[in-house]
Amino acid sequence: LKRKLDVSPAVGPRPEAEAADSGVQVVVRIRPPCSVEGEEAPDTCLCKTSANSVAIQGQGFTFDAIADAASTQEEFFTPVGPPLVENCLAGLNSSIFTYGQTGSGKTYTMWGPLSATSGDSMACERGLAPLVFEHLFSRIKQEQQKHKDKELIYSCTCAFLDIYNEQITDLLDPMQKNLQIREDVKTACVYVESLTKESVFAMKDVAQLLVKGLANRRTESTSANADSSRSHCVFTCVIKSESKNLEDGSNSIRMSRMNLVDLAGSERQKLTHAAGDRLKEAGNINRSLSALGNLINILAEISQSGKQRQHVPYRNSKLKFLLQESLGGNAMLAMICTVSPSESCKSETLSTLRFAQRAKAVKNRAVVNEE
Ligand code: ADP
Repeated sequence: LKRKLDVSPAVGPRPEAEAADSGVQVVVRIRPPCSVEGEEAPDTCLCKTSANSVAIQGQGFTFDAIADAASTQEEFFTPVGPPLVENCLAGLNSSIFTYGQTGSGKTYTMWGPLSATSGDSMACERGLAPLVFEHLFSRIKQEQQKHKDKELIYSCTCAFLDIYNEQITDLLDPMQKNLQIREDVKTACVYVESLTKESVFAMKDVAQLLVKGLANRRTESTSANADSSRSHCVFTCVIKSESKNLEDGSNSIRMSRMNLVDLAGSERQKLTHAAGDRLKEAGNINRSLSALGNLINILAEISQSGKQRQHVPYRNSKLKFLLQESLGGNAMLAMICTVSPSESCKSETLSTLRFAQRAKAVKNRAVVNEE
């Protein structure tokens, strides 16, 4: 069922609803040493000092959780995935971002290897996205079986895009380039005009979309990674539930948006030996990620000082405009920051941990979307 729609979700936050301040959940994942960096034994640039803290160069950082190299995909999913699904089922917009330098494990963490993404439920390296959707469909079934007094009808509609050089491409129909972001006047939700939307009914439908979209994503070989991501990549699922009370015939609708966002490599892109398209691309990656970093700084300052939210600049970058709901807006957010243990990545790791620390200070205001 393929549809192209220009409309954003019709159900928004109830005007009278109280917004709950919700802190960003920040989890740092340290990937195992790998052959690219010539690591034979785990080196010691990073040290996990407790379940939720790390130390680097004698400096300590505390987050919600630290996953070390021994953490499997399933173990990593457990504290992050089920809460995201529960929030979405409760009508709260929820997002997961992966942030980190190229080669630190963002793609592995969010999607897993493509071969493991393809719907085989036994594949042990599946990333957050396939595990989240498997959990979502199983929870939907449970909810439908649990409530005998209600008829619960769920619909899940997905879209997949990337932002490359400030241009939005539809990853489910890559001929659609340079799509525009619009804002719905009624609900104040942003949406991408003409983006392909696909209804999904089971894990295998999602797996097909993931495989198709990831194959269309812009990647490039760099010294850090043979398959480096040069674009920001956003998988969105709108989950709508209609609940009909079988006794009194009353009806309610809840709707939430789940965003899975895999950001381009956060390392400072080198402009020196780049030319032509690569130079433009490097400049755009730097600009959009530093715009994101500045936004996080502003939001963290607002959250810490309790100042009014005003003059938050969202529209000067496609990434920020599209993700404004997730950052400082109406959404629960988990930020996964991936780092390499390697001594040679020390300065990028430190910069990722500092970014993670600032993100931790941001408070979103999540409201149930209900009609
Ligand atoms: P990024 O998306 O940040 O550029 P990748 O996810 O492609 O990085 O990871 C780089 C390499 O490290 C890949 O070969 C990936 O399979 C491997 N890798 C990353 N994280 C882990 C992990 N936690 N466990 C095992 N292998 C990992």
